[in-house]
Amino acid sequence: MSLRQWPNRGPVADTLEFMSFTTAARIDLAAIRHNVGLLRERASGAALMAVVKADGYGHGMVPAAHAALAGGASWLGVATLAEAMTLRRAGIEAPVMCWLYAPGEPFEEVIAAGVDLSAHSVAQVEEITRAAVRAGRPARLHLKADSGLSRSGASPADWPALVDAGLRAQAEGQAAVVGLWSHMACADEPGHPANASQLRVFGEAVRIAEKAGLRPEVRHLANSAATLTLPEARYDLVRPGIAVYGLDPIPSPGPVGGPGWDLGLRPAMTLTGRLALAKRVGAGEGVSYGHRYTTSAETTLGLVPLGYADGIPRQGTNLLEVWVAGRRRRIAGTVCMDQFVIDVGDDVIKAGDEVVLFGPGDRGEPTAQEWAEMLGTISYEIVTRIGARIPRTYDGVDA
Ligand SMILES: *Cc1c(COP(=O)(O)O)cnc(C)c1O
Repeated sequence: MSLRQWPNRGPVADTLEFMSFTTAARIDLAAIRHNVGLLRERASGAALMAVVKADGYGHGMVPAAHAALAGGASWLGVATLAEAMTLRRAGIEAPVMCWLYAPGEPFEEVIAAGVDLSAHSVAQVEEITRAAVRAGRPARLHLKADSGLSRSGASPADWPALVDAGLRAQAEGQAAVVGLWSHMACADEPGHPANASQLRVFGEAVRIAEKAGLRPEVRHLANSAATLTLPEARYDLVRPGIAVYGLDPIPSPGPVGGPGWDLGLRPAMTLTGRLALAKRVGAGEGVSYGHRYTTSAETTLGLVPLGYADGIPRQGTNLLEVWVAGRRRRIAGTVCMDQFVIDVGDDVIKAGDEVVLFGPGDRGEPTAQEWAEMLGTISYEIVTRIGARIPRTYDGVDA
């Protein structure tokens, strides 16, 4: 198994040789390939767009994209123009779609690079087609319907005008409408009435567009949760994000459970570090800022050199567990910017011992899902917030 480091973004990129690669988010690219393969099977015939926005949900966008393509994805999805251009500049030629921008962004360059763009309003179609004329290449457009999330997309009342704008741009040779699409609000709650309602509204939007003469290559609606549980949402293309990284979009409480678990998804990220120090202290000692933890007896403390600047939530103070020396240990006292402390009692630990903060759970370490539940958030936030100071290292590159 080979191990490669992806030069991290941010201010530390030119001092890689000083980074400790024992403190790292280890990314199992074989797991990403495996997960994409499972999702493709589950999508029964639909093509798969792997969503790699937000630095591949914190896993590293370019390596995650390569792994997803190797696993059978045929599209990549990102939020911003900059993310799309990062994929192109890394030499990735697969279809890339991008969906979140404000007026005045550099559409011309992105169209020239052959990136597909979402359009949710007549004004946006017009701005993008003007940029296409400058780029000397038709824009590839996906018209976005708001089927009930009330974020981007044309509401049903504005949809026919958006379809007309797409048809006009196509007739003038400035665009090809290659997609019709929308996004789900409550797919992670199977049976939520919004799911049926969104399917209905999107179905109607597709009918209106096709009746008006649009013949898109792909109609797409399903995020991870809908890919797993809502067959009617799969259409021609599914757009999973979180499940590509092996995290369950519909977790049931506890370390295991949910449709992602049943399918065999495998978490791709393991966050590890090494103890910077182990030392004995007496009873009644206050630990870390604010003394929010006090030792109850003479004990051994371990110092973990990761903190909230690295994405360890400060709300994890006296709450989250990490795995050290064969067991889970609760964080003792306040999570600081760069470090936190654990109390191991009379167990034997030493500086340099491995700390597993979260991972797939194989050795008994917590999962990102368990951290999320303890904090009252979702696993997406745990993995995407891992900071720029943590190098990502890659296993399974050639597997
Ligand atoms: C982030 C995102 C996805 C992926 O959602 P998951 O819940 O991570 O599967 C799909 N489509 C759009 C438009 C998104 O913004």
